[in-house]
Amino acid sequence: MRTIDDFTVPKEYEAPIEKLLKKIVRSLVDKEIMPYRRTFDEEWRHNPRIESFYQKLFVDIGAQRFLWPAEYGGWNVGGSNWIGTAAYVVMEEIARADTGLAVAFGCGIGWSNFMIAFLPMRRNERLLEEISNLYTKSDKPVIACMAMTEPQGGSDIENTEIEHGRTIQTTAELDGNEWVINGHKLWPTNSAEADLYGVICTTKRGSTDDRDLAVIMVPADKPGVKRGEPYHKAGMAADLNTDIWFDNVRVPDYYRACGPGEDMVFFKSTLDNIGVLGSISYCVGAMKNVYEILKEYVSKKTYHGRPLKENDAIAGVLSDITAKIEASHLMARQFARMIDRPDQYGSYFSSEIRAKSRATKLFVCERCNEVCSEAMDILGIHGYDRDHDIEKQWRDVKMIQLWMGGKQICEMETARWFYECETL
Ligand SMILES: Cc1cc2nc3c(=O)[nH]c(=O)nc-3n(C[C@H](O)[C@H](O)[C@H](O)COP(=O)(O)OP(=O)(O)OC[C@H]3O[C@@H](n4cnc5c(N)ncnc54)[C@H](O)[C@@H]3O)c2cc1C
Repeated sequence: MRTIDDFTVPKEYEAPIEKLLKKIVRSLVDKEIMPYRRTFDEEWRHNPRIESFYQKLFVDIGAQRFLWPAEYGGWNVGGSNWIGTAAYVVMEEIARADTGLAVAFGCGIGWSNFMIAFLPMRRNERLLEEISNLYTKSDKPVIACMAMTEPQGGSDIENTEIEHGRTIQTTAELDGNEWVINGHKLWPTNSAEADLYGVICTTKRGSTDDRDLAVIMVPADKPGVKRGEPYHKAGMAADLNTDIWFDNVRVPDYYRACGPGEDMVFFKSTLDNIGVLGSISYCVGAMKNVYEILKEYVSKKTYHGRPLKENDAIAGVLSDITAKIEASHLMARQFARMIDRPDQYGSYFSSEIRAKSRATKLFVCERCNEVCSEAMDILGIHGYDRDHDIEKQWRDVKMIQLWMGGKQICEMETARWFYECETL
């Protein structure tokens, strides 16, 4: 019987631990999430099932120790040359059940661990040790949040090649050996429940000098951190987003992630590497789930006495959907491998990788939205009702296309490199 595992994984892209990782995460997700995912929308303000899932995945299985180096109590997967693929596989498996949960996971442990610990730039050992202890020694899930978007918009801050942080309003001022943070962020993933914020600040408002962008870690319990009520969104209910205010919040000077200039590189990598890797894994996970739902439906539902899938017109749409999933999956796996092997594909920080990552996100997000919509065409009213979960994936995945500067920034980044644009 054909399953989602029949979408092609090129043999040379298959991680040695991939089958084991898939098995562990899929069995947890099938037991803990699949039967209950509809309740995430109804009980969106607080759902104890999500907390219980985090406890099992982050702590019992140990996902929050996954990336850290062994000397800090971690499993050192971050130091292997399969890091992109391993992270991709886990996120895709979670997204198959719920993309909101997958982004909460990806941002919750992925970005802070991955970036601080393993990118080949100046290692901030003191901060690294402090944060790694937070993750590896805790018996509770530790949730992080990357706070970038501000009331005036998110895209301009993400448009680093043109704006260079010019529009950031949240300030970080050095006072003795402490940073003082003031500002207002909104929409970040996990913002309503994070333990740790990575705050994108400027040390000089209006500056276009990359050295003035600062990424500063702020524990949520610091005096002056205030957060609002979670937003009621169209989808992705498992990710709780809200406003956060920083009012004269003080943190030690070594809470700046990497330092002048390097923080900008770190921030860009957050978007172009882990941000894109996450986005495409969520899309492919959702598409594979749509395939599962669709396959069952067109095999059972009959039209003029024959299964729906035996109808020419329907088979045409099914094959179109399948081709989109197969192509998106291959592209996504290729990008994961590019993250694994900067020695072969070039530095994470290059404009080439940025353009290729954005091209991948552009393509995969577009196909994902089409696949959900075409599947709904086939299921008709049963696609639009809440019983088959097509409408859930359809509502949830749109956001993946909108975040990280939306389609437009992806298009600009892609064209800028491939066509050597000079003014774009
Ligand atoms: C579920 C969810 C999770 C999120 N997670 C995070 C997170 O973890 N951290 C975080 O900081 N934020 C997060 N966000 C916010 C998200 O990153 C922003 O929505 C995104 O940056 C886009 O910004 P904006 O919505 O303010 O649109 P705007 O910046 O106001 O842009 C509006 C429109 O203008 C277009 N546009 C912008 N610039 C240009 C240009 N130069 N040329 C042409 N068109 C342009 C955009 O594509 C868009 O269509 C999240 C949002 C959601 C809903």
